[in-house]
Amino acid sequence: MDKLSHLILHAVEEGKWNGIKAGRNGPVVSHLMFADDLLLFGEANEKQMHCVIDTLNQFCGMSGQEVSRDKTSILFSRNVERSMRSRLLHISSYKETNRFGNYLGVPLTGGAPKRSDFQYILDQVSSKLSAWKANTLSFAGRVTLAKSVIEAVPIYPMMSSKIPKSCLDDIQRMQRQFIWGDTDQKKKLHAIAWDKITVPKWMGGLGIRKLEIMNQACLSKLNWKLNSGSEEFWCTVMHGKYADQGSSSIKATDSSLRKALFKIEPMLHQFSVWTVGDGEDIDAWSQVWIEEGLRLDQQLNIPSHMVGLKVRELVDDNGGWNWSLLESWMPYEYQQKIAAIYPPSHENGRDIRAGVGGNSNGFAVASMYNNLCGYLHKDNSTMWCRLWKMKTPERVRAFMWMAMHNRLITNSLKSKMGLCHVMCSHCGDVEETTLHVLRDCPKAMNVWVQVIPVQSRGLFFMGETQHCNVSLSMELEE
Ligand SMILES: [Zn+2]
Repeated sequence: MDKLSHLILHAVEEGKWNGIKAGRNGPVVSHLMFADDLLLFGEANEKQMHCVIDTLNQFCGMSGQEVSRDKTSILFSRNVERSMRSRLLHISSYKETNRFGNYLGVPLTGGAPKRSDFQYILDQVSSKLSAWKANTLSFAGRVTLAKSVIEAVPIYPMMSSKIPKSCLDDIQRMQRQFIWGDTDQKKKLHAIAWDKITVPKWMGGLGIRKLEIMNQACLSKLNWKLNSGSEEFWCTVMHGKYADQGSSSIKATDSSLRKALFKIEPMLHQFSVWTVGDGEDIDAWSQVWIEEGLRLDQQLNIPSHMVGLKVRELVDDNGGWNWSLLESWMPYEYQQKIAAIYPPSHENGRDIRAGVGGNSNGFAVASMYNNLCGYLHKDNSTMWCRLWKMKTPERVRAFMWMAMHNRLITNSLKSKMGLCHVMCSHCGDVEETTLHVLRDCPKAMNVWVQVIPVQSRGLFFMGETQHCNVSLSMELEE
């Protein structure tokens, strides 16, 4: 295939093959290859078609390979007239198509991807789900599968396309139903709200990701590449195509990808961490450059005449920080932080986008996701962290998780849903709360007194639910 590439480039150099030009300053695209797949681009006229066919024939003659007619088709752009289409189809003897289908799991569409383009994701998810038979798995097992497998299905297309919200909502609905064991016949109680389930485990959730935000985080990676001088070919094409337009405007005729990226670009700017070079690119107040997570406009009232200043403009004629601009209004602790940074200067080169959020070492989708959701500063000491670290089977941890949310299906909870009375069916006259059923009911207590040492009992039997749960978990662990 390398040889074919050479032949095509040669034809382009000789001016015989006119590829598609991406904008006035962009590259000419004559062909794209990946593994065994080949996309050729050219002008829709007879001369060009002959050139394409000649080049392919030349390659086939040299390599002994053949072009598969079944697998080859031509996609015309909308402005190619009917008569021209039939002439070109006749010359090439290939068939016409109006879409190329999916490529590596991503629909190749000219226009904005529609919901139907991603139906295959929903089909994949539902076929996986039906293969598993939710009712034979424990809650913990269903959560694990929902997370590791269902979440992974749309990741690849999410890296390059904005998937319609309705489609992502449907995937999450299927995920939710699977976790709680709903079937077509019977809807089960969803004991814990989805909003709680989708926060990280250390914050009390199950770490199921919100797909719409995940999609934004994935696409932000493309924005990151576009904004940090990546030389990947698609970046060159995008820059070429939209350079004249500037980065601050969007047109109705722009591609759907460009529109999607434009819309979420502010997210990248908001969470990028900058290393100061010449200070020309960094907004002094609304961007992060002093320390991770510190945006001055979120901490201080910026004097109105200073709004919009770049870091470059905080320097005096001698190249040092211009304290006279800052002293009168900026608290001393922030001045000190700034003083610790080397003032911007052209000798330092351009400002560099060092990373996103908690990750000052390049772009990581996971960091971007956490930033977008506000899940920052992971705290390993929360009771939830301790719960998930317990050395017990996962289904025990999942049970404890439910108990700590106070969502075990006790009579107390059932009575709130109007399903039965609140009393413990063993004791008769005491409300059956989580704490009662797990600890205070004489039935449970009989077990505890056998396993909990005398000196720990006072604390164990006095605490409130959450405290008790943690100490309970400690005991179980021991
Ligand atoms: Zn009882």
